[in-house]
Amino acid sequence: MRVTGVVQGVGFRPYVHGLAVQLGLCGFVGNDAQGVLAEVEGDAAAVDAFLARLPDQAPAMAVIEHVTASPVDVRGDDTFEIVVSDAHGARDVPVSPDVATCADCLTELWDPGDRRFRFPFINCTNCGPRYTIVRDVPYDRPATTMAGFALCDECAREYTDPADRRFHAQPVCCPACGPTLSLVDAAGVALDGDPIAGVGDRLRDGWIVAVKGLGGYHLAVDATDEAAVARLRARKHREERPLAVMVADLDEARALCQIGPHEQARLTGPTAPIVLLRRRDGTGGVVVGIAVPSIAPSVAPGNRFLGVMLPYTPLHHLLADAVGRPFVLTSGNVSDEPIAFDDEDALARLAGIADVFLTHDRPIHMRVDDSVVRMVGDRPLLVRRSRGYAPQPVLLGRPVPRPVLAVGAELKSTVCLAKGRRAYLSHHIGDLENYETYRSFTGAIAHLRRLFDIEPAVVAHDLHPEYLSTKYAVDLDGVDLVGVQHHHAHIASCMADNGTSDPVIGVAFDGTGFGADGTIWGGEILVADLVSFERVGHLEAVPLAGGAAAIREPWRMAASWLRRAYGDDVPDGLAVVERNADRWAQVLAVADANVNSPPTSSAGRLFDAVAALVGVRDAVSYEGQAAIELEQVADTAERGGYRAGVTGSEPFTIAGSDLIRSVVDDLGAGTAVPVVAARFHAAVVVAIVDACTRVREARGLTMVALSGGVFQNVLLVERTVAALEAAGFRVLTHVRVPPNDGGISFGQAAVAAARDRAAAAS
Ligand SMILES: [Zn+2]
Ligand SMILES: [Zn+2]
Repeated sequence: MRVTGVVQGVGFRPYVHGLAVQLGLCGFVGNDAQGVLAEVEGDAAAVDAFLARLPDQAPAMAVIEHVTASPVDVRGDDTFEIVVSDAHGARDVPVSPDVATCADCLTELWDPGDRRFRFPFINCTNCGPRYTIVRDVPYDRPATTMAGFALCDECAREYTDPADRRFHAQPVCCPACGPTLSLVDAAGVALDGDPIAGVGDRLRDGWIVAVKGLGGYHLAVDATDEAAVARLRARKHREERPLAVMVADLDEARALCQIGPHEQARLTGPTAPIVLLRRRDGTGGVVVGIAVPSIAPSVAPGNRFLGVMLPYTPLHHLLADAVGRPFVLTSGNVSDEPIAFDDEDALARLAGIADVFLTHDRPIHMRVDDSVVRMVGDRPLLVRRSRGYAPQPVLLGRPVPRPVLAVGAELKSTVCLAKGRRAYLSHHIGDLENYETYRSFTGAIAHLRRLFDIEPAVVAHDLHPEYLSTKYAVDLDGVDLVGVQHHHAHIASCMADNGTSDPVIGVAFDGTGFGADGTIWGGEILVADLVSFERVGHLEAVPLAGGAAAIREPWRMAASWLRRAYGDDVPDGLAVVERNADRWAQVLAVADANVNSPPTSSAGRLFDAVAALVGVRDAVSYEGQAAIELEQVADTAERGGYRAGVTGSEPFTIAGSDLIRSVVDDLGAGTAVPVVAARFHAAVVVAIVDACTRVREARGLTMVALSGGVFQNVLLVERTVAALEAAGFRVLTHVRVPPNDGGISFGQAAVAAARDRAAAAS
């Protein structure tokens, strides 16, 4: 019997062992390069029962793809054994993601009678580190960063006892034989006292502490201490991006934020991501029976949501207990560099930020950031797919003909390697704009190739010639290159996420992407399948006034759009014009002269323009900030809206300037900003429905795929899906892969595989 899927490192062999023994069967089970291989012999009815029950009662973390069974000669075994792994043969085994601490391990952590009482590295076959510690496959202790820790007698007994929860749990250890914590100062000198208690005290005193976690170093600070949080921001050069907060348990999270059943399931589940939750109105006071300290304003300035996570390793459980209040836990890096994970490197890079370091001697092999999730009803919307998810393969509808490497775009970079039906979407790599991140990008490709034994024959990349990912791809020898247009990749990613290859109406709304005509796209209506696309409509294009400066300063987009809507007759008295009067004329002159102001049909930039127009924000410190705040300010009870004209022959134009004029009129009439923001959202929904209806009439297509970073906007997604469905469309949204550029590599891989298949067939 062969079992494929995520079956190593998830307690599968002990499970098979237990089932076989229970049924009185003899034989063996082992890991090999394709998954799990088992032979059983015994009573025919018992063998049948074994085959029938095996898939149904598998361990929680196992993901079974296939079970195949064939008769073999009887060996005459009289026991059932777990055999040593076979490292030979082609490697084709998914590695499990890291799993949050299970309930059984937590019970032991807090049990004074248990030999692992307060041990920061408790784990078992159902939980603990996986992807972050795996150096190679098959997944066995010598191939992990636990190789240097020899099992003590007690741990060895558990490891070899089929009845034990730690039977063949590779990272198993205890205080006698496992890693140890230490608290060191910024010079690396060890500090006296209990490290956990020491960190708790220091955090409450306002210190900044670097904490070595599962996939890298975090920076921790008391989330209720405004001065401390402000100091962290200043040292980290991270001015406004919201910081995530860790709380001890669900009650503490509930005191800060509104948590429905689906959010609760996500927070407490095995992936334990950062969940973006709506904050309760006002903080502080007493909620659900416990006193709530107020979260410092600098944690998430101007944000009605808070990124919250629960402890997901025993170390974090101990830390939360010692701190006794919510604490910020953010990536250990300076501004946009990748998260530090190597001990020496962390000490060097974070010495100017952290006052002390809580570290340990279990090496991290792969850096992995925390994942970020929003819930849309009962469906997860992955903003960042990383810890707890990577490198779980996303199964494709059909096998790829030849192995594919897709290198992604630039921002929120991920890579994707595909072989057979499995697409291995990497952890979050970051914005590919500096050398450190580029090294992390090439390192991730090398590691995933090795782990899954993939020799890419086809390499997919973005069309943007200046992206580092594109340059990497075109420099490769001996592979077939496939350039994939950015928004086609978004739509393909949504299609493959939903397992369809049928033609769709693709609505790709994002910040910016390189268009097939060399201009900057971002508000695109495509007719697409996985092989090709047509651009059948788009948002009206306006100058990106000042290029990259227009992304940092949304008021420039307001200037550009007002010029388009009104020419030289912009109404007097607009606050955005007055606020930026000193540079207004100059920016327009530059745009008019077509200097560094390429035309863009970006929907994200239209959101930016409206955000500036209504006074939400003139400048941003990270991409998408203005649009995020515009969503948050919108009055969800408002039901009014505007309408944009959809005109011209294919590719038709969605008149964004109609919306700009409506917003200006509403502001002039004294309409409240939250109402205007809501009406603008409603108008974008109507424009999407109008555009899709037009395509349906012309082409007969009824399935719509929504993708691109703009669809991280939950208000927009919910209303768009409802309106399209009410109009008779079938709507695809993302479930397994992010809608933003973190999903681009997956879409590129789907397109490259489809083109490879089409070429082979012709
Ligand atoms: Zn456990
Ligand atoms: Zn031990």
